[in-house]
Amino acid sequence: MEQLQTNLFGKTYTEIQEIVNDLSLPSYSTGQICNWLYKKNADSIEKISNLSKSARTALSKQYTIRHDTPQDFQVSSDGTKKYLFLTIRSRYIEAAYIPEVSRHTVCISSQVGCKWGCLFCMTGKQGFQGNLTAAEILNQFAGIPEKDIITNIVYMGMGEPLDNPDEVLKSLEILTSSYGYAMSPSRITVSTIGIIPALKVFIEKSNCHLAVSLHSPFSDERKQIMPVESVFPVKEVVETLKSYKLGRQRRISFEYIMFKGFNDTRRHVNEIARLLNGMKCRINLIRLHSVPGIPFKSSEDDTILRFRNSLSGKGIITTIRASRGLDILAACGLLSTRHLSNDKPLTSSD
Ligand code: SF4
Repeated sequence: MEQLQTNLFGKTYTEIQEIVNDLSLPSYSTGQICNWLYKKNADSIEKISNLSKSARTALSKQYTIRHDTPQDFQVSSDGTKKYLFLTIRSRYIEAAYIPEVSRHTVCISSQVGCKWGCLFCMTGKQGFQGNLTAAEILNQFAGIPEKDIITNIVYMGMGEPLDNPDEVLKSLEILTSSYGYAMSPSRITVSTIGIIPALKVFIEKSNCHLAVSLHSPFSDERKQIMPVESVFPVKEVVETLKSYKLGRQRRISFEYIMFKGFNDTRRHVNEIARLLNGMKCRINLIRLHSVPGIPFKSSEDDTILRFRNSLSGKGIITTIRASRGLDILAACGLLSTRHLSNDKPLTSSD
């Protein structure tokens, strides 16, 4: 029976070192392989020309290099692009490329679907279907045509990154290590609803920025839109964050989707200020994007502006996030793919 070869792409330096040792290759092969994987974008073991022929033959018996390129893409009128990738489990995932004047961001997924069922999120509506591997996470950056101009990566696509901590941390290591893509951690933001045990591991093992989904400072309200509040209350998430001495370079932000008449009052401003008191952080306000079947509308623009000014008046740096890629369902909370590989790829008209 033909043996399925393991992909070298997505492996860390330590993992490659183990493979090199197992195959009794010279120890310097580890650096050579990493160099070809992550700096020279090699798409086959044959391309690793500074490995001996016998080393390449030994590697090829069990391993391969596989880069997945997007299956499809859509372009928004604002220049945002949504890419569709096929995973090894025959499910589709989406990533969004967002060009701005001075930065080029890719928003990537960490899971197929998600188990947490936040009311405002299309991904949550498809349920959890699987974790992505580090290779599948990295492909969403390394496999798009804009790879060489990407300045920022945000883990804000499909899935809860800290529900897949091992593969997410591996991908972060490869993105930020000198043997990998050597990106500054300050260019990468991981978003979470606040899975406390994994959050602690993330803070201890990574220097990347963190964005926590807040959406209401009141527990009873937050439970209505985010079931996670019953498991990991945001108050405990904030206490956890406050217990760490975080480096000056590291940014903690709170995401706050504005629901009309629900979480956009003066009472909310006061409680947010009380909750975050003593923390160096910022808040991003986000317009609610319409998701089928939810009984909420977005707050009006003037309410959002007033909310921002009130929070700023309390000394909290607060920004309003521009919605990008709305016409192709690439904006915040709208990424979702239910389809299997033998189905037609999902498009915004489905
Ligand atoms: S917002 Fe995040 S955690 Fe909540 S359902 Fe969507 S992907 Fe999952």
